Amino acid sequence: ENLDTDLLKNMEYLKNTKIQNKSRNEKLSDISETRQRLPIYQYKQQIIDLISSNQISIIIGETGSGKTTQLCQYIHEVYKNYKIIITQPRRVAAISVSKRVNEEIEMKDKIVSGYKVRFEEKRGPETRILFMTDGILIREFLNDPLLKKYNLVIIDEAHERSLNCDIILGILKKITRIRPDLKVCVMSATLNAEMFSDFFGKCPILRIPGKTFPVELSYLPSPTYDYLTLSIDKAVDIHFNEDLDGDILIFLTGAEEIEKCVEMINEKIKNLGEFLDEDDLKKYISVLPIYSSLSQAVQDKIFIESTFRKIIVSTNIAETSLTIPNIKYVVDCGYTKINVYNPFLKIDQLKVVPVSKQQADQRMGRAGRVKPGKCYRLFTKDTYEHELLDSSVPEIQRVNLCTVVLQLKMILTIFKKMNVDVEQSVIKFPFIEPPSLIQFRNALEQLFYLNAIEDDGEEGSLTDDGKKMVQFPLDPYLSKTLLESSTLNCLREVLIIISFLNLGNTIFETMKTDKERFEFNKMFAKKFKENEYESDLLNYLKIYKEMEKNKECTDSRRRKPFAKWCEEYSINTKNMLKVVDILNQLIQISESIDLKMNSSELQKENVIKAFIKAFKINIVVKRENNKFENLMNSDKKSNKNNNRNAVSSVEDELFIHPTSSLFKKSIKNGAYLMYISLIMTKKNYMNVLTVLKPDWILEEKEFKQDTHAYKKIKLERVNIPRA
Ligand code: ADP
Ligand code: MG
Repeated sequence: ENLDTDLLKNMEYLKNTKIQNKSRNEKLSDISETRQRLPIYQYKQQIIDLISSNQISIIIGETGSGKTTQLCQYIHEVYKNYKIIITQPRRVAAISVSKRVNEEIEMKDKIVSGYKVRFEEKRGPETRILFMTDGILIREFLNDPLLKKYNLVIIDEAHERSLNCDIILGILKKITRIRPDLKVCVMSATLNAEMFSDFFGKCPILRIPGKTFPVELSYLPSPTYDYLTLSIDKAVDIHFNEDLDGDILIFLTGAEEIEKCVEMINEKIKNLGEFLDEDDLKKYISVLPIYSSLSQAVQDKIFIESTFRKIIVSTNIAETSLTIPNIKYVVDCGYTKINVYNPFLKIDQLKVVPVSKQQADQRMGRAGRVKPGKCYRLFTKDTYEHELLDSSVPEIQRVNLCTVVLQLKMILTIFKKMNVDVEQSVIKFPFIEPPSLIQFRNALEQLFYLNAIEDDGEEGSLTDDGKKMVQFPLDPYLSKTLLESSTLNCLREVLIIISFLNLGNTIFETMKTDKERFEFNKMFAKKFKENEYESDLLNYLKIYKEMEKNKECTDSRRRKPFAKWCEEYSINTKNMLKVVDILNQLIQISESIDLKMNSSELQKENVIKAFIKAFKINIVVKRENNKFENLMNSDKKSNKNNNRNAVSSVEDELFIHPTSSLFKKSIKNGAYLMYISLIMTKKNYMNVLTVLKPDWILEEKEFKQDTHAYKKIKLERVNIPRA
């Protein structure tokens, strides 16, 4: 068995090195041939003309027609000095596509096409094409409000209508009037382009017809509750019973599910394919996951040419953002994960929801790009026809707007300071489809609670704290914690913890299962006997301090001792380096806004207190019935029987996440816990927990008052204009 896999690995290796060993000229001609075969190539001149003669234009083309990788190059070929931004809704796509474009342009080490995503960038003085996530572009407006450094902004994947994308379109609408020389191009994979064109005063639209082949569609005869098992069986069935030339793409909803699917398919294939000769070899496959938190190296594998059949198991990232070559079979589970604001918990939660018809059709389309294909929908025809929405509700109408309202307020404030004549109201901002009044109220309520805005005027103006908070590429609750920690003399400590929070559980990547993690937590607790506080937050701090103590490690981070140290603590080396990197970036920002950079070994308590200042809405108390009850909502709850409109109570039952060090620990009745994040899978899991002393909570004098803070905001009087 081992022999088999070794042999297979060698073959894969040989094949890949063969590809890599092609001479530069061979590679270049390969690439230019491939580029000319893309549907967009026929429209090259038309595109150049369109963009040259219009300030704003819309380009529509099927996924895979070459919009993302080609259009920027066409413009770059003609306008060599143009600085071009292209936004992407996801960081995976931004990085992967920028690399691809750079390979197509330049075979040496120059970075003509680079990228910038949160906490990570790759660009040089020669960079002309810069891929960035849409969130980064919003941050770019804070430093360069009129985008003076750039000549062309391309908004890609506009059909996805990500929250940030919608905000950017609004800002661009304002600044294109002030900067007639700034060009904008909106690219979309679906046909409802009129909406974008109307938004920009009926700007021209160019449609690129795609080359597609027929896809044979099949549905389930009756609905299933276990699409995961079905998708595994289907993939194996396709592999053994259908043509061998053509890869399989499975759409599932998230990382956990995908990993399980990959594992199960491998298992099944291994059990079924026992022989090993030339023919049987072909029955071997590489099963590859793709989702956003995956490391880049693993992600890149989906684009490596291979002699084996590939089965790619993906989130909706392969729907339109990444075009994977050679897919012939698509298996669609019919669901997707989206962010939805839960007004009761006051956070966005990831929810698994049915896809829209538009999404299902996009997924199906992936099978017909190179030749006729097949698509297996793991739902019924009836579901498709009668239950699925035509298109999904845009993100801006379903999520927490706290972060973007803060950013938008800052950008508008900057415009005002520059004497740019734009309407200051966030609510009257030109949205392509406006959010609801309730969403605005919620966002303003939270910003007021965080002391980011005053309770003046209709919408509240930014406070000094608010102006500082917006400088950090963090959730406002975390930036609030940072400001508080500076007052409490523990800024450095809190910066360290927040750097860890940005990587979440990936820091312990070597531990796959919750059980392994549980064992680790026990070992960890033993190792650090001085466990005076029970806190995941402080555990992160301990890890970091331990690393710092270990001189060999920090000394220019010499690879070997550092790796050894990481291994000892089951820590993922790469991600630990990222923590260090993020910390340095956050320190720089703190210094730039003159936050007192102080640190005191003794004040662990203050670290927790700083978090309480921002996260007091996340304090729960353990009741006799073993349930956790939110402290802030407890008085609201007593009214609940009278008020049936309240959010259903099944929703709010809370559990401790298995990766927390408090999991399975006995927690006294009446104990107070604070969580930093809430993970919603089958249950509501509180994660990154800390046990609080009652005194700390009592110290929060304004605790009760805060719950009613929103009443000061007089939003009722505001009329939202309709687009
Ligand atoms: P669109 O944006 O219209 O969906 P793209 O420009 O993303 O189209 O894709 C054009 C072609 O480039 C596709 O055939 C795709 O397979 C290929 N491609 C994109 N990224 C990579 C990559 N990293 N490696 C190899 N091929 C790629
Ligand atoms: Mg694209």
